[in-house]
Amino acid sequence: MAARKSRAGSAASSWLPKLRGSAADQKARAAADAEQRRAEGQSPKSIILNAKDVQGEYDAQRMLMTTLGGEVRPLTNSDLEAFRHNIRQAQSRYKGGIRARQVIELSRADDRARANEQIRTAVPVSAYGSRVRFMTPAGPDSKVTHHHVIVDFLSYASAASGARGDGKKSAEWLRREPLRIECDCGRWRYWYRYIATIGKFNAGRDETGYPKIRNPSLHGVACKHILRVMAEVESSGSVVAFLARLIDKARARDDNKVSVQTTQEEAEKLAGKPASRVRDVETSMRQRQRDREKAALARAAKKAEAKPPKTVAAASRRATKTAAATLAAQFNLSPEQVLAVLAKASQQGK
Ligand SMILES: [Zn+2]
Repeated sequence: MAARKSRAGSAASSWLPKLRGSAADQKARAAADAEQRRAEGQSPKSIILNAKDVQGEYDAQRMLMTTLGGEVRPLTNSDLEAFRHNIRQAQSRYKGGIRARQVIELSRADDRARANEQIRTAVPVSAYGSRVRFMTPAGPDSKVTHHHVIVDFLSYASAASGARGDGKKSAEWLRREPLRIECDCGRWRYWYRYIATIGKFNAGRDETGYPKIRNPSLHGVACKHILRVMAEVESSGSVVAFLARLIDKARARDDNKVSVQTTQEEAEKLAGKPASRVRDVETSMRQRQRDREKAALARAAKKAEAKPPKTVAAASRRATKTAAATLAAQFNLSPEQVLAVLAKASQQGK
């Protein structure tokens, strides 16, 4: 670990290309993706399950496959019904935009693990108005060296308005607000772009084909690259500084459509930042889970305390023990830990 840290610097940023021309690279990748998708959709042998199919016009002679239930098998009418159910469920979860914290919380454990192990950094490279482009390294098995992640900050105009204090304060506020996201990797394309489209948090081209093979249950929301970017948006000072620069510039020009660019030197410094300084996705997840459990436990304790004691001392002690055991099982703690929290909560209540 120590050896890895000391190498931080030029080696750690070797994945980062020249920033000049990287916007064109991102546009070219998006155009190629859109063109491939268009061609696949128009092919007579298309295996895309589109909205009309999902609605019930699917022709069984097409013999499309699904993995719903775990195994590859031909698609049936009851699958379509399950898909319609999954779509309604996913749609009810998102109200237009998604917060960085939600992206992390709704992600799959395997994507989080990959973000932690493989994607150790993300750099804000450029912004035009609300749209910020980040770059991340690609994973070890990838054909490319880096990916572009687009984050559209939906409350940018409000942050720029001046209602939230100076640039830095406004940036702090903005990064916790709803956003839209996009990545140029295959995971995003085949697993998540569809979910983002129906959930209204997709920052790029709409995907209308149901992911019947890769992700028929519509689980998860984002790839490892987006997860690393979300962890940065949530907790990194360099993202706040970048957003503050954007907001300050918009105010100075009296125009929200301004652009900000990171220099090559700045980007390399950010890319070479030791990994330990980036708050891990998994760690922040666990911390929040613990905070939530503690809060729930404290609420339960307060409720229990509010009830007037009506039994003799021995019975009351027995009841406390039983309650502690029940709460312990519920919160995955030992009865002793529960009693300690109860004691603390009752002290705070006085
Ligand atoms: Zn990705």
